[in-house]
Amino acid sequence: MIRENLQEVENNIVAACERSNRNAGDVTLIAVSKTKPIAMIEEAISAGKKEFGENKAQEMKEKYDTLPKDVKWHFIGHLQTNKVKYVVGRAALIHSVDSLHLAEAIQRECEKREVQAEVLVEVNVAGEDSKFGVKPEETENLVREIAKLSRIHVCGLMTIAPFVENSEENRWIFRKLHKLSVDISSKNIDNIDMNVLSMGMTNDYEVAVEEGATHVRVGTGIFGERNYAV
Ligand SMILES: *Cc1c(COP(=O)(O)O)cnc(C)c1O
Repeated sequence: MIRENLQEVENNIVAACERSNRNAGDVTLIAVSKTKPIAMIEEAISAGKKEFGENKAQEMKEKYDTLPKDVKWHFIGHLQTNKVKYVVGRAALIHSVDSLHLAEAIQRECEKREVQAEVLVEVNVAGEDSKFGVKPEETENLVREIAKLSRIHVCGLMTIAPFVENSEENRWIFRKLHKLSVDISSKNIDNIDMNVLSMGMTNDYEVAVEEGATHVRVGTGIFGERNYAV
């Protein structure tokens, strides 16, 4: 089932790219494997998927340590400074940096390990109280502060849109994040790129692709519903 689901999501991404005159090669599908067992991830790997998303630091560490090293891990959850040690050196991209405090903790861990970290700044575009992320109007300032940290490279922006019945309701959010990244990119800040736009989940990834997503994070649409009770 995982193979078929992956194929269907990939096909939908190609169709969304055609509708919006984009190159399908510019969109990366991240298979969000949080809460899912190793066996299901292995099934996705055997179907050709090499990029996975996790939102808990220790869970990502265990999966990283267990699975082949050519798998790329995306850390997409809220990251506490005391968990940074599990993620630095393992995550190919940390999508969820939303404070200077967290960025500084990542910088210190990178110094200790003599590695670099690639990160995105998480923006709370929708303005929901329950969500993490910096306010749109504070994003450029935070990006400028993180740019000074020698071992961190900001590659772009990420947002989590609310759950809505009709994905069209989230289009403005994706459009606004895209515009924000273009605005910040035009400032030519040293040590900063705005090439990555991580937005769109199972319910709205096609709209996100139409609005310029370079990375979509799809869990349920690939692995099925999650059971948090176990
Ligand atoms: C769980 C999660 C996803 C995937 O959600 P689905 O609706 O299952 O596709 C994407 N992004 C983040 C940040 C998540 O926590």
